[in-house]
Amino acid sequence: MPIASPHFSTKIVLFRRDLRLADNRALQAAADSGGPVICVYLRAPGDSLAGALGPAQAWWLHHSLIALGNDLRARGNNLTLLTGDSLDEVRKLVFHHDADSVYWNRRHDPDGMAEDTALKAALKELGVTARSFSGQLLHDPTRLRTQSGAPYKVYTPFWRALEANGEPHMPFDAPDSLMAPDQAPATEDLDSWNLLPAKPDWAARFGELWTPGENGAIEKLNHFIHGALDGYKLGRDVPGRRTTSMLSPHLAMGEIAPHRIWHATRNLPETIETDDFVHFRKELVWRDFSWNLLFHHRDLPAANLNRRFDAFPWSPDSRLLDCWKKGLTGYPIVDAGMRQLWQFGWMHNRVRMVAASFLIKDLLIDWREGERWFRHTLVDADPASNAASWQWVAGSGADASPFFRIFNPLLQGEKFDPRGDYIRQFVPEIARLPDKFIHRPFEASPSVLENAGVVLGETYPQPVISHAWARNRALAAFKALKEAS
Ligand code: FAD
Repeated sequence: MPIASPHFSTKIVLFRRDLRLADNRALQAAADSGGPVICVYLRAPGDSLAGALGPAQAWWLHHSLIALGNDLRARGNNLTLLTGDSLDEVRKLVFHHDADSVYWNRRHDPDGMAEDTALKAALKELGVTARSFSGQLLHDPTRLRTQSGAPYKVYTPFWRALEANGEPHMPFDAPDSLMAPDQAPATEDLDSWNLLPAKPDWAARFGELWTPGENGAIEKLNHFIHGALDGYKLGRDVPGRRTTSMLSPHLAMGEIAPHRIWHATRNLPETIETDDFVHFRKELVWRDFSWNLLFHHRDLPAANLNRRFDAFPWSPDSRLLDCWKKGLTGYPIVDAGMRQLWQFGWMHNRVRMVAASFLIKDLLIDWREGERWFRHTLVDADPASNAASWQWVAGSGADASPFFRIFNPLLQGEKFDPRGDYIRQFVPEIARLPDKFIHRPFEASPSVLENAGVVLGETYPQPVISHAWARNRALAAFKALKEAS
């Protein structure tokens, strides 16, 4: 293990949702200083779930911190885990280890930004250098503005502005070694944070799909670049196969930088159509766009961007909400999505749109209920993308899908999962239905149902609502809203 030199002062690096060693500008700056580095992950006091994370993401965090700790150990350093007020804890570390600087990568969520501004000011007063770095997004949200200086509210001009801004900076490797301080700071025991579910262990199957940590992220990226990227433009809508990168939880925890993903789509074999990788980059830029919205609208997760929707006549119904959460609506594509979410902490994007539309427009339940449930259950829960996407589906957001565009869950299922592969995987109780009825079991004859072992209302629910009726109700509600405003 490299030993600290007395000639260099100690630097402290705060890790947040940037749990990686490569493309980590704060860490790199500390490593470049040549002195000892203290690497810290800090969680707020009294918070059993490490900040604003939901339980699914807390599972992820547990494993990601182990991975980060191992990667730091391989470079001669350690991860220090602390609970407490950030200023108090950082101040104690500074004094105890005689550190002259504290580094971190910038956050762009309202709470994180406020905390970091206060921390910077307090450190300055103590005479300690505080430096923050960009790197969580392709482009810093403070820089991209329309010609009139206003923030972007429409995606396509945002994408064009981002393209015109030049290539995002090049990725760089993790430091080979990181000098540790002479005396390692005391660390808390990760197990004492109780981030993992106990009884029942609802995350039992997460490990089949996910390897939290930087190595897991690189593995997913390579798998995608050499696989589903070819044909992504059309394939990305098919939920029954692995057609997308599945990088979202790694991005949400900052285990991989978006720059690295962007640049991985350069110099590809000619067999990969330009359309495919441009389309993929455009998806990645939706993440930046969402963060741009959150940056400029701090209440994005809680308030309609289009305030006209404040008067929308929602129809709260806890029984129907529960059916939706449990994947028991009687609409197989919705149910498959909700069960995929529960089993693996993730749902395919096409199905997220269908399931969200069903909650909002068929059940007429406020999008904020859905946003909350996704935040609770997604391993990729992201304050910007989740809120922006829910508002996009609701029609209350920026550049949103108009409210009157109501997904038909039967036609969506038939179009994107024509042979029912996805349904059969997640709704096994109807798996033996023929393709013709796999998306509409309620239209199957008694003999077809019997042959498939399905008893509607017993082994699988009848539809909780008629889509045709619900569609008309939603359109009438929207019309009334328009007329009233
Ligand atoms: P890919 O298709 O491989 O895309 C690559 C990356 O681009 C993703 O990892 C993601 O970072 C970004 N991306 C793709 N689509 C979008 C999008 N529509 N908006 C923002 N970024 C996007 N994504 C989250 O990361 N966290 C969320 O909490 C989240 N909540 C959502 C809620 C709803 C109701 C909907 C409709 C979408 C939500 N999304 C969210 C967006 C999208 O569904 C996921 O990013 C995507 O399914 C992740 O799978 P992937 O990594 O394989 O995506």
